[in-house]
This record gives sequence, structure tokens and C-alpha cells, in this order.
Amino acid sequence: MLKSIELAGFKSFAKKSVLNFNTPISSIVGPNGSGKSNVAEAFRFVLGEQSIKSLRGKRVEDLIFNGGKDAARANRASAKVVFDNTRRIFNLDFDEVSLERVIHRDSVSEYFINGSAVRLKDIIELLASAHIGASGHHIISQGEADKILNANIKERREMIEDALGLKIYHYKKEDSQRKLVKTEENIKQVESLRREIAPHLKFLKKQVEKIEKTIEMREQLKNFYLEYFKREDDYIKAEKARLVEEKRVPLAELARLEQELKQAKEILSRSESKDVKSDEIMRLESELRETRLSKDLLVREIGRIEGEISYLDRQYKKQMQAATSVEAKKVDLSTVESMIGLVSQEIEASSNSSDLSLIKNTLNKIKGILLNFINENKAPAVDDSHKETEQEMATLRVRKEEVEKELIDIKNKESEFTAKYNSVKEEIEKEKDSNRDAEKAVFRIMAEQNEINTKLAGLQNREERLTTDENNFKQELTEAGVLVGVEAVRYKELLLEMMPEERGNQEERRKNIERLKIRIEDAGIGSSDEVLREYRDASERDTFLEKELVDLGASSVSLQALIKELDDKLTTEFKIGVEKINTQFQEFFSKMFGGGTAKLSVIREVKKKRRDTDLSGLEVGELGDESFDQTQAEEVSEEGIDIEVNLPKKKIKGLMMLSGGERALTSIALLFAMSQVNPPPFIILDETDAALDEANSKKYGDMITELSKYSQLILVTHNRETMSRAGIIYGVTMGMDGISKLLSIQFDEAVQVAK
Ligand code: ATP
Repeated sequence: MLKSIELAGFKSFAKKSVLNFNTPISSIVGPNGSGKSNVAEAFRFVLGEQSIKSLRGKRVEDLIFNGGKDAARANRASAKVVFDNTRRIFNLDFDEVSLERVIHRDSVSEYFINGSAVRLKDIIELLASAHIGASGHHIISQGEADKILNANIKERREMIEDALGLKIYHYKKEDSQRKLVKTEENIKQVESLRREIAPHLKFLKKQVEKIEKTIEMREQLKNFYLEYFKREDDYIKAEKARLVEEKRVPLAELARLEQELKQAKEILSRSESKDVKSDEIMRLESELRETRLSKDLLVREIGRIEGEISYLDRQYKKQMQAATSVEAKKVDLSTVESMIGLVSQEIEASSNSSDLSLIKNTLNKIKGILLNFINENKAPAVDDSHKETEQEMATLRVRKEEVEKELIDIKNKESEFTAKYNSVKEEIEKEKDSNRDAEKAVFRIMAEQNEINTKLAGLQNREERLTTDENNFKQELTEAGVLVGVEAVRYKELLLEMMPEERGNQEERRKNIERLKIRIEDAGIGSSDEVLREYRDASERDTFLEKELVDLGASSVSLQALIKELDDKLTTEFKIGVEKINTQFQEFFSKMFGGGTAKLSVIREVKKKRRDTDLSGLEVGELGDESFDQTQAEEVSEEGIDIEVNLPKKKIKGLMMLSGGERALTSIALLFAMSQVNPPPFIILDETDAALDEANSKKYGDMITELSKYSQLILVTHNRETMSRAGIIYGVTMGMDGISKLLSIQFDEAVQVAK
């Protein structure tokens, strides 16, 4: 149920204008050029019409209010229709459904369903489900009264299918066909992909077979390795232990010898201090010599002193004797001379005198002098010479004591030196002995060492061989790890107890391993993992593609089946629908013309024709995108609808021979028939009644009344009869400002306005 249409900025409807349609028949009346047809066009527009031409425009802007006197042009045009959906004519869970379309000067179209932006496709699908098809069979524009008669057989078929609500099957079919094409393309693509990878896959498969063979050999190699490694490891360990054991005694011996040698050498190295000792002894010798020399000197000195003392002693004794006896008394010459002097003086003094007394006196005097002399010199020698001697002796004794002390010192020194000398000498002698022993020992030790070293050299040889074996073993382990993987070197996990065997057996095993290795290398698989992965990937991809092909094949089959089903449905429903329409058509036709026959028939035409790309399909170009049309000449065999009419009392057959009014009537009869079989929610007829005379207008009015039981009618008209059938009449006027104005009016007014 159509509720209303709201226009804003659309063509002459500059201002927001709302037309409510709450009766089965609504009329729109008004003078020429006031904007009535613009209302009908607004319906087309909002329902998704893509051809601007059919909206009487050249460019998008032509649909937007272009301004008038004192009125600015609009930037957007919008139309919104509101439907009552309580009976769910649209498959939407709303009691009211509004469709809106807005265009801007930059030609962008926006569509809304209940205010939510949607795509054109959504609008078309929604409408198709409610028999409001894109062919617009229910909107008959001005001058299109005989539209269906003028259409070619294919267009007619489309209109009828649309009217019958079969368009939805077409969409589904087209959709399926597109999907089918896409599927077939995919199939081809997948097939070509499979063809492309097939040789590579085959190659990879061969490689993989080789790899599998190699893997087998590797497994064998692994087992070879495991035993070989286990035995080698056992051997190396055992040999190592043996060597350690065998070396133990000689090494200990060698250590001991080394110790001995060290000691001997120490002794020998000590003899190096011999020089120091001989120096010492020489020094001691010379010191001793010097000491002895000094001793001798001292002894001699003592002897000399003693001699001197004994001489002085004798002297002393003599002096003492002399001192005590007068015989030995000595008188100094001078004393004697002085006495003589005195005597002489006396003699002299009396020599000339004859006085005897005097001479006698003189003689007495001389006698006194002499006696005095003797008395004076008779006293024991009071000279100190013995004292001097005594003094000298004392001095000498002191000296002697000193020298003796010195001698004692010297002797001590001597004996000290002698002792030292002797001990050094003894040491030297001792050293000489131990050196000899040490030298002997060194020779012995070296001989023994030689012997042991020879033995050890033998062991070392074996050790070196073992090291080589061990190194080889390690290298082989690495090699095995690289070649076969870690499992080849897990010989330790091998719980097998190996019986001891000849070493040669291992050599044999090694050769076997080498041979196998060469065979594996000859197989020449580089990175087998990569190949395997590549093969796995490639075959997985192939399997995937194969499955994809199966799936695609299945969906192709099911799509074909669906298409076939839709075709069948279309064919049967179309046939049934046409039958039904024919019944109604015949009825309306004979009502209109008071008899005659009319019917639709399905025909097939083969012709070379221009093919217009279908704009009413789902892939509709944007508004104004008419250059989208591709025309190409091709042979088409198409099924279509032919209309056969037979006017009563006239020998007229075929549409070509009908008059304008007759064409309009026939067309209306067919339109009404179509609408009754599968009524659309509304029908808009823009001056479809223009060509009718009064009598026919009456009949037209009756039919409208009849038709309005099934579909809501909106009639643009100048026809009084038609107006009289309407429940609501809208008057459209246009003032000097070029803006259409709406007003709801009464029938009488309407008649007035329509003029
Ligand atoms: P008739 O009775 O003669 O068929 P009508 O009432 O159907 O006339 P319409 O054809 O609906 O008249 O209206 C045409 C009017 O709309 C013209 O006056 C035209 O100038 C005006 N018109 C069309 N497009 C625009 C536009 N983009 N901007 C303003 N006015 C426009």
C-alpha cells in the first residue's frame, strides 16, 4: 500500500512537497506545465530509473530544481516514497517501508531503505519481490498509453514477466548464469593450473621415489653407522684404558727417575760452587800464611825483647854492683879537671913564695882539696843509670806483654783459619766424592730413562694412532650426522653388547659404509627435505585443485540445474501467467470495444538486430550512464510476445491498423489485464486517458474503479470522468516563480483547476 511521496528539489518541486495517497484512487490535476508529470517521474526516479532520457532530461542536473524568478536553484533533488508494509508486501520486518533517492549536482546517487544507505541493487531486488518491476509497466508516462503496443516482442515479454512477478526468477537466473560463467572460468583456470603443474609434479614424484630409495639406503647406512660407531667407541675406550694402564708403571718409573736425576743434578750443580770454595781456601791459605808470618815476627820480637831484657837485666845487676862499690866509682873528667884546677890554682899561688908556712898551708889546703874531692866522689854512685835500665826493662816488659797478647790473638786467628781451612778442605773433599756418585747416577738414570722412553714411545705411537682413530671417529660422526641425521650417531643408545673382535672387521665395515655413501651420493638428491616438501606442497595443491575442480564441477552442475529449474519455472509460470492475462485481456478488450478478440501469443523470432545491453538488470550503470549501451549486430533467436487483436465488425487484424484511440484502449485493456493477474501495489497512469472520447472515458472510468480493488491508482489527468472516480485530488499549480505548488482540492475545484 502506497502511503505517500515526498519531493524536495526535484524538478519544479523546489520546496518539500508531500502527497498522501490514503485512498484507492488519487488524481493529480492542474494546468499544462504545472508539474504533474514531474510527480509521476518522481516515482520512476525513486524506484531506480537509470535512464535520464525517460525522465525527460539530458543530464543529472536537469532533475534538480534549476531555480526560477526569485528562487535559487537547489543542489540536490530527492524523492521518498513510503509504503504501508503491515501486509508485508516487502520482505522486510517493518510496518512501514520508505525508499529514498537523492541526487546531487555532481551526479552521485544515494539510495536509502528506511533511512539506511543501500545499493541500487537492493532497491531493485526489494521492488521485484513486490511486483514493482524495473520495466515500469505499472508507471505509464504521458504519451506512453500505447507503450506496450509499441514495444518489441522481447520488451513486451519483459513487461509481462515483470507484471507476473517473474523478474525475480530472471535475476536469480542471471545471477546463477554469472556464477556459472565464473565457475566455468574457474574450472578452466584450475584445469590449466593443474596442467601447468602436472609436469613438475611428475618430475617431483620421480625425485621423491629416488629420495625414498635414498631414504632406504640411509636407513641401512644408519644401521651400518650405529654398529660401526658403537664398536669404534668401545674400541677407543678400551684402547685408551689399556694405554693408560700400560703407561702407568713406566710413567711412575720415569717420574721417580726424574726425581733422582734432579737430585743428582742438584748435587752436580752444587759442585759449581767448588770454585767459590777453592777461592775461599786460597784466601784462607794466604791469610794463614800471613798470619803465620806475623806470628813468626811476633815470636821473633818477643825473643828480641827477651834478649834485650836479659841484657838490660845483666846491665842492671852490673849497675847496681857499681853503684854499691867505689872501685867502680867513676868520676867525671870535668870534676877531676875542676879539682885539678883548684889544686893548680893553689900551687900557682904559692909556687913563688918561700914562706914555708905558706907552702905548708898551701900543702894543707891541697890536702883538703884532695880529701874533699875524695869525700865528694866517694859517696855510692848516685847516678840513675840503673833506674833508666829499670825503666827500659819495664817498658820492654810492657811491650813484650803486648806482643805476647798479639801473639795469642794471632795464634787464635791462626787456629781459627786452620780450622776453617780444614773444614773447607774437608768439604771440598766430600763434594768431590758425592759428585762422582752423582755423575754415576746421572749416567745410570739416563740409561734407564732411555729404556723407559723407548717403551713409552711405543705406547705413544699407539696413542697417536688412537688419536687419529678418535679424530676420524669424530669426523665420521659429524659426517653421519649431516648425511643421515642424529639418529645415526645415537650409538650410545644401542644396548647391544659387542663381542670383542679383530680390528680388521671395523675396517671392513668402514669400507661398506663408504660404498653405501657413494651410492647415496650418486643418487644425487640435494636437499631431499626441500624436494619432499615441494612435492608435498605440489601434490597437496594438486589434490586441492582436484577437489576444487570436483567442487566447481558440482557447483556448475547444480547451477545448471538451478538455471534449468528457473527456466522451467519461468516457462511454465510465464505460460500460465500469459493464459491468465489472456483471459483478462479478452474480457477488458471486449468490454472496451463491445466485442472482438485479443490475445497474447508467445512467438520466436530469429533476426539480426541491434542488441541493447540490458539496463534493467542487476548490473545497472549509474544514472546517466547511457554510453554504457553497447550495440553490436548479432543473430538473435528470441522468444517474445505477439499481440493479436480482432476488432468487432472490423476486418482489422494486427496492431498497425488501429487508430490512436483504439491503440490506447487496447493498451489500457492489456495493462489492466496484466495488473489484475498479478496486481502491483500501485499503478500510475499519466494522461493515459488523453485520447479517449466521452464514451470510452466512461468505460475507462469503470475499469479504473474495477482495477482499484487490486492496486492503488494515481492518475494524472485532465479528464473529468477520471477525476470523478478519485477519492483525493491534488491540484498542482505553478506561479511566476516557476515552483510547483500542491493543494488538496474538491472535485468541483479540480474541474476548474484542470482547465
Ligand atoms: P501537461 O499538463 O502539459 O502535461 P504537466 O503538469 O505534466 O503539464 P510537467 O511536464 O510535469 O507539467 O512540468 C513541466 C514543468 O516543470 C515545466 O514548467 C518545466 O519548466 C518545469 N521543470 C522541469 N524541470 C525543471 C527543473 N529542473 N527546474 C525547474 N523547473 C523544471
